Amino acid sequence: MSLVFEHTTLGQRVLFGSGKAAENLAAEVARIGPGKVMVIASEFEAVIAAAVSQNIEVTLMYDDVAPHVPIEKADKARAAAVRHGIDLLVCIGGGSTTGLAKAVAMTTGLPIIAVPTTYAGSEATNVWGLTEASRKTTGVDDKVLPITVIYDAELTTSLPAELSVASGLNALAHCVDSMWAPRADPINQALAAEGIRALNQGLPLVKDDPEDLAGRELALYGAYLSAVAFASAGSGMHHKICHVLGGAYNLPHAQTHATVLPYVLAFNSAAAPEAERRIAAAFGSEDAVGGLNQLRERLDAPTALKNHGLAEEDIPEAVELILSQIPTSNPRAVTRENLTVLIQAAFAGSVPEV
Ligand code: NAD
Repeated sequence: MSLVFEHTTLGQRVLFGSGKAAENLAAEVARIGPGKVMVIASEFEAVIAAAVSQNIEVTLMYDDVAPHVPIEKADKARAAAVRHGIDLLVCIGGGSTTGLAKAVAMTTGLPIIAVPTTYAGSEATNVWGLTEASRKTTGVDDKVLPITVIYDAELTTSLPAELSVASGLNALAHCVDSMWAPRADPINQALAAEGIRALNQGLPLVKDDPEDLAGRELALYGAYLSAVAFASAGSGMHHKICHVLGGAYNLPHAQTHATVLPYVLAFNSAAAPEAERRIAAAFGSEDAVGGLNQLRERLDAPTALKNHGLAEEDIPEAVELILSQIPTSNPRAVTRENLTVLIQAAFAGSVPEV
């Protein structure tokens, strides 16, 4: 690649430290100034949220969170924020919780402090998502980018090993797809490569012992880098496939990403030798596909879309929906035929075709 590029860096403070979330949140709230705070956390995240917000004054604790931000839930949360005269949003939880805070920020312009507890990465992007009548729409708006992200690996130790692996591979997918996404450039590729290195090192430690803080820190650091790379590079082929499958057939987000990734990497590798070399080097492996497969085996990663809710008869329709969304930047030409082969293999969990 010649060194001619255009790159936008999103402005955001990041505070990273295990066991420091409550302290860092109090300091950030004080730095931003007096005002009414709305804490958003799902009922499953309530215990974590109570501990993290123990040092701040909370006007409204809000827990009506659902996956993929249904518009009705967004409107209800927006109305609650206005009714209580809220000045600052604090979201503590996974991507669904962050997504609801973003939906509120979108219409109210309120600032967000995000405290993530999974590896989804939404906290580092200016992308919002909303679901209306089973259709998910996404868009970009700088108003939804959290002004501060507080990372504390201790908050992730309660995430079960299986979900941690799926969520971590979702982050890894941000990195791999960033290598050839529409706005891929040397900066987001460098971030993505370091993200792969950190996730490849951290996730096996998490898998072996979900309480291992060193592994959790590496995975969280890698997840942050992956999200910054993804926010900058945009959605590549992998994300377009997962977006369609998740939105149209209600497949679980992290597991779908984890399952589809090896197929897209195998599909694109030969046509993107520079990306292939960088991904392989980040894995410390001779080739990119081998590096990913080795990690997936080590993690006992999810293997077949049929196990996650995709029906075989949906494949032709899914292929049509995906085909219209594949970015022109994709290194290998995508046809109805080769995409069908890819989705069928991901459905069955068979060995990816290169
Ligand atoms: P999620 O937020 O739905 O969380 C999954 C489950 O894990 C939930 O039940 C949650 O309560 C639980 N959980 C969260 N943290 C936990 C912890 N520390 N311990 C125990 N349980 C915990 O799922 P997700 O994968 O984090 O996020 C997926 C959503 O994020 C999707 O809607 C996706 O579209 C969105 N997303 C958006 C962006 C963006 O840039 N806008 C980026 C990535 C993901």
